[in-house]
Amino acid sequence: MTLILAYYGISGKGWALFLTAIMLGLTVSSALHPVLLILMWIPVIALDMLALVPPLRKKLLTTPIMHAVKRVLPPLSQTEREALEAGTVCWDGELFSGVPQWKRLMDLPAPKLTPEEQAFLDGPVEQLCEMLDDWEITQNLHDLTPETWAFIKKNKFFGMIIPKRYGGLGFSAFAHSQVVMKIATRSVTAGVTVMVPNSLGPAELLMHYGTKEQQDHYLPRLATGEEVPCFALTGPKAGSDAGAIPDKGVVCMGMHNGEEVLGFRLRWTKRYITLSPVATVIGLAFKAYDPDNLLDPETRRHCHADEVVPPGADDDYAASGTDYVSTEGALGVTCALIPRDTAGVQVGARHMPIGAAFMNGPLWGEDVFIPLSYVIGGKDFIGKGWMMLMNALSVGRSISLPSLATGAGKLASLTTGAYARVREQFGVPIGYFEGVEEAMAPIAGLTYLMDSARKTTSNYVDLGEKPAVLSAILKYHNTEMMRSVMGHTMDVHAGRAVIKGPRNYIASVYKTIPISITVEGANILTRSLMIFGQGAIRCHPYLFEEMETATAGNVDGFDEAFFAHMNRNVQLVARALVHGLTGGALSETRNYEATDRFYRDINRFAAGFALIADFSLLLLGGELKRKEKLSARLGDCLSYLYLASTLLKRYQDDGRPVDDLPLVEWGMAHCMFNFQTAFYAITGNFPSRVLGWTVRKMVFPFGRTQKRPNDALEHRVVALMLEPSATRNRLVDGVYRNERPDDPTGRVEHAFLLKLKSKDEEKKVRSAIKAGEINAEVSLDELIQQVLEKDVLTPEEAQRYREAQMAADDAIKVDHFWPEEVDEFGTSEAASGTERDHALV
Ligand SMILES: Cc1cc2nc3c(=O)[nH]c(=O)nc-3n(C[C@H](O)[C@H](O)[C@H](O)COP(=O)(O)OP(=O)(O)OC[C@H]3O[C@@H](n4cnc5c(N)ncnc54)[C@H](O)[C@@H]3O)c2cc1C
Repeated sequence: MTLILAYYGISGKGWALFLTAIMLGLTVSSALHPVLLILMWIPVIALDMLALVPPLRKKLLTTPIMHAVKRVLPPLSQTEREALEAGTVCWDGELFSGVPQWKRLMDLPAPKLTPEEQAFLDGPVEQLCEMLDDWEITQNLHDLTPETWAFIKKNKFFGMIIPKRYGGLGFSAFAHSQVVMKIATRSVTAGVTVMVPNSLGPAELLMHYGTKEQQDHYLPRLATGEEVPCFALTGPKAGSDAGAIPDKGVVCMGMHNGEEVLGFRLRWTKRYITLSPVATVIGLAFKAYDPDNLLDPETRRHCHADEVVPPGADDDYAASGTDYVSTEGALGVTCALIPRDTAGVQVGARHMPIGAAFMNGPLWGEDVFIPLSYVIGGKDFIGKGWMMLMNALSVGRSISLPSLATGAGKLASLTTGAYARVREQFGVPIGYFEGVEEAMAPIAGLTYLMDSARKTTSNYVDLGEKPAVLSAILKYHNTEMMRSVMGHTMDVHAGRAVIKGPRNYIASVYKTIPISITVEGANILTRSLMIFGQGAIRCHPYLFEEMETATAGNVDGFDEAFFAHMNRNVQLVARALVHGLTGGALSETRNYEATDRFYRDINRFAAGFALIADFSLLLLGGELKRKEKLSARLGDCLSYLYLASTLLKRYQDDGRPVDDLPLVEWGMAHCMFNFQTAFYAITGNFPSRVLGWTVRKMVFPFGRTQKRPNDALEHRVVALMLEPSATRNRLVDGVYRNERPDDPTGRVEHAFLLKLKSKDEEKKVRSAIKAGEINAEVSLDELIQQVLEKDVLTPEEAQRYREAQMAADDAIKVDHFWPEEVDEFGTSEAASGTERDHALV
């Protein structure tokens, strides 16, 4: 009975009444010795008093606990607070609660394109993809062609997120994601070029925080590409630790358009800035200071002054007319939009990112004066840059890299399946070898998983959410999954993908993987610090409230949050135990036999995760920040639960096609196995070994029950890649594809389809060779002659067979170059800027 009550989470009052009823029963039945009865009544009465008389509880229990919590709480800096408060909580909050309410996810509408968005994908996006020659772009031009730039601007690719009233396309996040994904399957360079202005950048910031004048001026120009934006946060000394930017703006009077106005005198050094070499307007993040109190008191009151400039951060700034070194009057991170032609702005030099040719470069400014009107949002937003960036990041990071990564997975699934069917060794298509099958299964399995996560998360953005934690999960996991997928894709293609040239459709994506891993939150940091670090406070149902009320000394608020929290922990222990023993059999499912066990697994592990997360927080408190390995593994647990949930959501949204089940099963096995690995690593290294062991035994009472996808499942998954089908089409939906024999990917698909069409002819020819009727060690023409002479094939069949063989021969070909051609594309990368100042930022 106790376990049942705990399982359903009765309140403190409920517990008091329950125990009192038991004691009354025992007393009336006279079953126990009176002394024993009295001894048992004492704690029950104490519990009753505390549970049923709140003023007493608050005085005797809540206040001392609150003071103790306050003492151990690490103070939150304004920057940390803004990062934590940015964004919203979605399904991550349900998982953190340990008792996910599936209705909240499953009842969300499925992501859908409007007819206009679909027409854009079928029209301009398709056309753009056809214009893109990735070899030419990356190897010879080191840029998009002028026609491509013009096409991108004319068709408003830079204005996908800008509302129509400003001349933009006003697309949904899902449509934006589909566009980026499709372009990236053709050219990463073009994908990034289109992605950046629509991601964390001036447009997003202006739409949410810009003044009316700024919106009216810039948004229409950004939408049509009249203005090309970049956004500069990163510098030589502030990469991952972006809050430590040493770039400063000091409030002072200066000349602007012939008038003396209040503004900032700026100095900055930035690097790695995408689109900076071609940008006409620069979004700049800097730290604002007002040492002479020139801003009005109201503006200063809005800002915060807890910015700390790290030691040495100012070394680069030699003394100049403006006191850049002083940290007096710190106002916080501030974002401004600065026209490229502003005096003192230095821009144009290029970095050359590995494997891609999108515009990227350093930029710096010396003694640049800007009026206050250049600050995004005007003077009210001075010092609010960090909050603005964090909010924008929650949206942009959900879309850009996750979509690009999914596109890479779809390209890999499409081409690897086709190639593995076309390429034969030992007289058999390589996709039929078990070893190759083992490498191919994760390509399809991870692609389906990436796509599910992308769809669910972009849908959340469309529903008005700013998914801070989910966007970090997507950024990290989709790019890591892409890394794994592309590694397997290279292995299956082997020499065909190693040799550079216009026929190679894989190598350039493979080479750019480190870019995706590094940008928008480098992956090690994202996993170690951000996913759980943010999730713990953002998603935990009570923690933030407890911190806030304890800091404010609000006893009533703390009392409510703290005891609800304790109550939940009792419930979690009961659930972890019951689910562990029953495999989650009592928990909620969607009553669909094929997937019900997956819901149970997620329910079971969510309770286990919530419990171990809570114990970690209780045991380590603020110290958890420094326990990055523990934090990373807790983040893994949360991530795999989320990714697995998106599989189920997507499967439901797709109408539960039975043929897609192998992909769902593969993804679930992958997620649950990795959850188990992370959980064992957490409990095995837990600061309290006894506690770690106990929780592990509750959640995994029968040991490691979760298994990797097995051989039979891998076989079913790979079979889906080796034949055209509706499932294969769904798997690669949104990829740029054609069947043209003169196209890099089209020629493999072309050969694949012809090979499948001539399956029967191939069989006949193979049998004839085996029977010694014809000789296979001859040219194709001679072979055809033999099969006709020996009546192995009719002329029509022979023609089909010939076409398929020729297409296959073409599909496996790689490029070669003569010395003069190598010179043309091999040497022009030498940096010419190294002798110039600041070229080595
Ligand atoms: C091609 C490209 C395009 C870019 N575009 C832009 C742009 O448009 N605008 C812009 O502002 N920036 C841009 N960036 C910058 C990008 O955001 C940074 O590169 C990124 O933040 C990482 O900084 P870093 O390279 O200096 O690595 P570092 O900060 O030096 O990190 C090195 C390694 O240490 C890890 N690490 C650091 N701190 C921790 C920690 N506390 N715990 C665990 N691991 C940690 C990181 O994960 C990383 O693996 C771009 C970068 C590249 C390469």
